[in-house]
Amino acid sequence: MVVSCKSWTQSDGLAGADSKKANKKKDSKSEAFYEIQFEDTMFCPFFLKIMTHKLFFSVTQVSRTDKGEVLHKTSKPLEVGDSVKITVDWSRRWDHMQQHSGQHLISAVAKELFHAPTMKELSILSIVCHVLLCYVRQYPKPSMIDLSIKELSNEQVQQLEQRVNEIIREGREMAVHIFHDEKSIEDFASQHSTFRQKPLPAGTGPLRVIEIEGVEYNTCCGTHLTNTRQMQMVKICSSNSNNDNGITQISFLSGQRILENVQRMLDNEKQITSLLTCASDEFVSNITKLQTESVIFLFDIITNQTFLLFHLIMTAQENCRFEGC
Ligand SMILES: [Zn+2]
Repeated sequence: MVVSCKSWTQSDGLAGADSKKANKKKDSKSEAFYEIQFEDTMFCPFFLKIMTHKLFFSVTQVSRTDKGEVLHKTSKPLEVGDSVKITVDWSRRWDHMQQHSGQHLISAVAKELFHAPTMKELSILSIVCHVLLCYVRQYPKPSMIDLSIKELSNEQVQQLEQRVNEIIREGREMAVHIFHDEKSIEDFASQHSTFRQKPLPAGTGPLRVIEIEGVEYNTCCGTHLTNTRQMQMVKICSSNSNNDNGITQISFLSGQRILENVQRMLDNEKQITSLLTCASDEFVSNITKLQTESVIFLFDIITNQTFLLFHLIMTAQENCRFEGC
């Protein structure tokens, strides 16, 4: 049910009247939009892109206020008191859950194995999330994590990937714990020795903690899987160190994205096999051979052109002497 609908203009950010049905401002120089609050929502602030969530018209952005209210940005108003049906793009939501849960697990294991915590770059997110996708690339490309460590060796990257996938196969439960008061936090901490007690965040609603069974507790407002097996698999694609700031950035794929990327690689391999007329194991040697042959061929062309030019000059000089010019 719609609780409130407030009109805004994009250019000056001025709020319109909080009315039963807000009037869209007709200013050609500024784009009007609306922020709608529902009685309840399954939309997630922060982790969405345009068109992720669909009403009978699209919700283009979801944000959360200091009071914990979730506001849905739309281009059309709704009547306060209306009941509406909201749906999410489930394949996209599932993909986000796989990538985000994968990052929870990678970050937890990296911290345990190498004492390398995940960097939090966006201050607004660091208020409510201890783990976040630092960079979300266009689906289905890899996601990035910045780890606070100078470098990771290839062996360490393999160790990280192996441990993460072990935990995935073990099928650890991923549970959500929500605390509304300090007493419930204290009670939970007394029963769970590895839970590091945190104070209730002032003015931002309840404390939401994600637990990966036997691995970690982490405060987070995102959308997560309910069991590590649902990640299917995690593949760490690259690791790049920046010694200037002591950060190592790793890219990774989780779940369905791995299958889609493998399929894309196989399609590319098929095309290259056809172009080079050789098996994939011979790609490197054949391309190296082609590059070497290209250099030799280019050298021959330059040599022949130089010789031809020299010959033309000599012929011209001979003709001049013969004709007395
Ligand atoms: Zn999370």
